[in-house]
Amino acid sequence: MNITIDFIVDYYQNIESYKVLSQVEPGYLKKLLLESAPYYPESIETILQDIQKYIIPGITHSVAAPRSGQGSPNYFAYFPSSGSTVGFLVEILSTGFNVVGFNWMSSPAATELECIVIYWLGEMLMLPKSFLFKGNGGGVLQGTACEAILCTLAAARDQMLNRYGSEKMEKLVVYGFDQTHSALQKAVQIAGCHTKNFRAIKTMKSNSFGLCPNSLRDVVHADVKAGLVPLFLCATVGTTSTNAIDPIGPLCEVAKDFNIWVHVDAAYAGSACICPEFRHFIDGIEGANSFTLNAHKWFLTTLDCCYLWVKDPSALIKSLSTNLEFLRNKATDSKLVMDYKHWQKTLSRRFRAMKLWLVLRSYGVANLRNFLRSLVKMAKLFEELLRNDNRFEVVAPRNFALVCFRKLLESIIGSGNVYMSSTMVDGAYIIWCAIGATLTEERHVIRAWKVIQEHANALLSKN
Ligand SMILES: *Cc1c(COP(=O)(O)O)cnc(C)c1O
Repeated sequence: MNITIDFIVDYYQNIESYKVLSQVEPGYLKKLLLESAPYYPESIETILQDIQKYIIPGITHSVAAPRSGQGSPNYFAYFPSSGSTVGFLVEILSTGFNVVGFNWMSSPAATELECIVIYWLGEMLMLPKSFLFKGNGGGVLQGTACEAILCTLAAARDQMLNRYGSEKMEKLVVYGFDQTHSALQKAVQIAGCHTKNFRAIKTMKSNSFGLCPNSLRDVVHADVKAGLVPLFLCATVGTTSTNAIDPIGPLCEVAKDFNIWVHVDAAYAGSACICPEFRHFIDGIEGANSFTLNAHKWFLTTLDCCYLWVKDPSALIKSLSTNLEFLRNKATDSKLVMDYKHWQKTLSRRFRAMKLWLVLRSYGVANLRNFLRSLVKMAKLFEELLRNDNRFEVVAPRNFALVCFRKLLESIIGSGNVYMSSTMVDGAYIIWCAIGATLTEERHVIRAWKVIQEHANALLSKN
């Protein structure tokens, strides 16, 4: 055990000596490892040596480091997957007990702690009472935002079919936007909705890539006229491409007229809303049915950990519950406890509440807010640097810690010195700078800017 912990500590101490982006070729590992599993046991020392030699070169160092001054602060690609010393340590605690936590009886502390941390964060976000256990709502920890969307879509689907009859299945329509995360399409496919009844409504640059409620109304109207049944809308706060914000309040107004379930996906940006100055981004949330944010993106918690709140837990439970005879127990029969296996797609579940409890306690609300603020501040700095150089264009408004810009070469992305990613928006190729690695400091942002400038200079001198 100790040797493994020392190994991971060494990894973080040396992390700045690695290229942030893995440079291996596809299929590299097959050439290096045995063709079949070893018949005789091997020592942990040998295995760790092989990890150093074969595995670490194939790792992209996206996770923030637990020691100050070290880490992968040059990672600006995708969204950050934030970690912290506490995040790593608590992973040991959470897996060390090997809790399977599917019902209250299987580990009462796991269920009860989960209810508490979900309530804590709901309060920090100033969620309306209707989403909290104190109202008639409630929440659950899922693995990822994709699972949360799938579970809520299933709940909405079954609620609708119970009301109007299962023959309506073919008619159910699901709405998102061209900027909605692909998780929605995946959920549509798994939940058995007709993929031809999935609408990705077009958003426009003039609307800052957020969805216009009138466009939604028009599309829904046309579907109703055609005899279809509007079912589910996924609105996003902080889209994946540009961090655009769909106007939740006005969208919920439209949805209400058609009895549509509204899910608000704030997987990345939701964490920032614990700061009073960013809370307005989820204004109107009281009109939605479910809300989700990933603690593993921006909340110093390691993968995987996603919060899901619902206004009507019974819809979720009706859709996802099974009553297996061999899991019957007095506590469940007494109806005094809740069993989280009915709130998710799998039976067994990890002790994720432990991770959040430790993160929340060891940082405190004050430091969590300061951490989020400092990242947004650095993104503002990067945005200013770009705006002061007329070779670059900031493509979409910066709302949180993601800056989208263009007029660059792919060589920046692949250089290995800094790691950014790219996307297509409105037909244009843009580059992403997402500031979020736990140990990124201003100097790393400025260094990234220098790397970008060097590439631009090299490009211009070639022409
Ligand atoms: C990251 C992200 C997702 C997917 O999250 P997973 O936890 O990987 O499933 C969905 N929606 C948005 C807006 C995201 O940023």
